[in-house]
Amino acid sequence: MTAHVRPKALDDFKARDFRMLIDGAWTQGAGSAIERVAPGHGTVVSRYPAGTGADAERAIAAARRAFDDGPWPTMTGAERSNILLKAADLIAARADELAFLDCIESGKPISQAKGELGGAADIWRYAAALARDLHGESYNTLGQGTLGVVLRDAVGVVSIITPWNFPFLIVSQKLPFALAAGCTTIVKPSELTSGSTLVLGEILIEAGVPAGVVNIVTGTGPEVGSVMTTHPHVDMVSFTGSTGVGRLTMANAAQTLKKVSLELGGKNPQIVFPDADLDAFVDAAVFGAWFNAGECCNAGSRLILHKDIAADVTTRIAELSRQVKVGDPLDPTTQVGAIITPQHLDRIGTYVDDAAKAGASISLGGAALDLGLGQFMAPTILSGVAPEMAVAREEVFGPVLSVLTFETTNEAIRIANAIDYGLSASVWSRDFDTCLTIGRKVRAGTVWMNTFMDGASELPFGGYKQSGLGRELGRHAVEDYTETKTLNMHVGARTSWWVPR
Ligand code: NAD
Repeated sequence: MTAHVRPKALDDFKARDFRMLIDGAWTQGAGSAIERVAPGHGTVVSRYPAGTGADAERAIAAARRAFDDGPWPTMTGAERSNILLKAADLIAARADELAFLDCIESGKPISQAKGELGGAADIWRYAAALARDLHGESYNTLGQGTLGVVLRDAVGVVSIITPWNFPFLIVSQKLPFALAAGCTTIVKPSELTSGSTLVLGEILIEAGVPAGVVNIVTGTGPEVGSVMTTHPHVDMVSFTGSTGVGRLTMANAAQTLKKVSLELGGKNPQIVFPDADLDAFVDAAVFGAWFNAGECCNAGSRLILHKDIAADVTTRIAELSRQVKVGDPLDPTTQVGAIITPQHLDRIGTYVDDAAKAGASISLGGAALDLGLGQFMAPTILSGVAPEMAVAREEVFGPVLSVLTFETTNEAIRIANAIDYGLSASVWSRDFDTCLTIGRKVRAGTVWMNTFMDGASELPFGGYKQSGLGRELGRHAVEDYTETKTLNMHVGARTSWWVPR
């Protein structure tokens, strides 16, 4: 772990002032400004407007007009696809600028932020391909007098609400698919990391997205998000964030029965058998636990190790973790960056302290790191964690790894499933039957086998249980943003209902 030196890149840096995008115009809105202090550098790096409920209402009205009267929903799939492809090119062209914003506002390492931008551009291209392929069904088997056509119709106005941990990547898992379907949108990024989403607004205007189709309102959840989830002119809410706010979002949307898509928290088990390639697993465990400083819905924060290998594997994970570089997010060699806010750092510390009091032992780390600027947490391994402890069941959202043990396959499955979350899981074994048994029985949206946290635009992602509702990515992602409409067509003379036959 290296000491923090204020990076040269920030010497001449001036905090960037952003405005919101409503109906094709950049606006300050009526509210005050939100100042973002960089978590890794302790200095103000961005200012966004603190949007108000009135700003959200103006954005919803603009999106409604753009959907009801505008050209976007009636364009051909090819026309929308070409605009999305242009957006992908512009994202790639401005990737360094976008990655820099995500890095300084969220505290994630710059090398990782650049990787996320590459992944995001690929998702926009994938959504562009799906825009041309969106189609329904036809039934020519209903008798001579009937032809049935099932249409996929854009759902309408969509509110998109995103969290701070993957600012650009997560908006890219939603917005291009909504646009591909012909929807219009109001986007609210997290009030902690709004910069890259606002730059995306510039990109979309340049790519040719008409005014009102994408509106971006910055501000807090209670002020802006609550209007976006209750307003009667919104047809669907696509939300990624905590399970608590997801629950509230669903209740809000229920007042007007909006369609809801939720990507929420996780507490993802990695089940490891003695016959696994343990070198590969140790590397994946270190990656899965410390990637994005553990502030990741997919974090591999819950190891379920066979008891015969638990002590040795834990020692090896701790040894490799000591070589992981925690430090300045702007340093290209940094692997683990800062924690999002001082309050969140305190919350992580409380989980560790409570687990220690409840009998867990700290095998590595256990405390905050003072690197001179910003807030950082030492990668922390807790051994001897019992399944009922809070640290084994709840999302810590920090670099804290809990180690549990099992003796039989059934016990491993029971421990894995004994919590409220079901986002992802992994199994490590060279035995095909073992992998498939775990793959089938663990209740999670993704189960990795002998790998961890790999992904592709083609593969659906989402959660079982309280990890969410619906799936993003994959070839059905555009369909989520549609309604199904049946056209039941009569052919030829209709047989009268009341004339005796
Ligand atoms: P959060 O729930 O606090 O906030 C998410 C978004 O909701 C923010 O934009 C916030 O302003 C908004 N919001 C807050 N209150 C609201 C309200 N009353 N009405 C409407 N919107 C409101 O989550 P966070 O702290 O930003 O992000 C971390 C959480 O996100 C973690 O739980 C993590 O697991 C989850 N997450 C899930 C996935 C996934 O794909 N499953 C991906 C990333 C993050």
